[in-house]
Amino acid sequence: MPLSWFACANCGFWQRHFAPPDCPVCVDVRNDLPEDGWCFLPEPDVARTHVGEGREVASGLWAFTTTPALGLAGTGWLIVRPGGNIAFEAAPYYSDAMLAQIEGLGGIRFLSASHVHGYGALFQLQRRFDPAIVAIQKEDLRMTKAFRVTLPFDDHYELAPGYTLHQVGGHYDGQACLHDAPGGRLFCGDMFKLDQDANGRSTAISSHTAFHKDIPLTHAELRRYRDVTAPLAFDAVLTPFEFAPEVDSGVALAALDEGLARTPGVKRLPL
Ligand SMILES: [Zn+2]
Ligand SMILES: [Zn+2]
Repeated sequence: MPLSWFACANCGFWQRHFAPPDCPVCVDVRNDLPEDGWCFLPEPDVARTHVGEGREVASGLWAFTTTPALGLAGTGWLIVRPGGNIAFEAAPYYSDAMLAQIEGLGGIRFLSASHVHGYGALFQLQRRFDPAIVAIQKEDLRMTKAFRVTLPFDDHYELAPGYTLHQVGGHYDGQACLHDAPGGRLFCGDMFKLDQDANGRSTAISSHTAFHKDIPLTHAELRRYRDVTAPLAFDAVLTPFEFAPEVDSGVALAALDEGLARTPGVKRLPL
């Protein structure tokens, strides 16, 4: 059977394979195995059954989502800027109309993601907007087989002036955040999880190694989050799932300090 792309129906992780034996994301301790066994969706099936859209959620900031939900149902962020657009995290799948919309916004020059839960259909963006630079922290390279990393980085890397990737580890060894200094935003990966109400307003904040299993971070991991985050100025955070204008640098640091002041354990702090 020839190589092609398959999405895990449980988590949405894409693999380029002829017959995926399992899904490395679901097998990992942070995810649950599918109750009814493996189901891998060939790309043409996903293309036939999924649509999506891009919405401008703040000036020059677009959110791309896929309908119906696929896998973890993440959001692909697109920062539209004169020096070349930056895509951080990716939607689970991009329809032709979504790719055309991105093209109309100026395409993509830089592609990156915090960790595997934010990869989505990053392979599609690379395929369409080649030769975009694809920057991923080196500790997570083992999860990137569906696309090609062109720029592995170590501790930090300035992707474009004012846009800097920082390894934060914790949740995943290679987890990285993107600090958007011009926009005053921190694309924080799964450093933080926001509970939100039906109107998209954040009601609680937490940090964890595995959210669904409530496995906490160690104090050293929380301290690393704090050391990296403290020097960065931001008024909002964006996870692979949520946009939280309620969480500025003060709120984020206070949440980390609260975790450092007690026995490790997942706690949802009301906002
Ligand atoms: Zn999976
Ligand atoms: Zn995650």
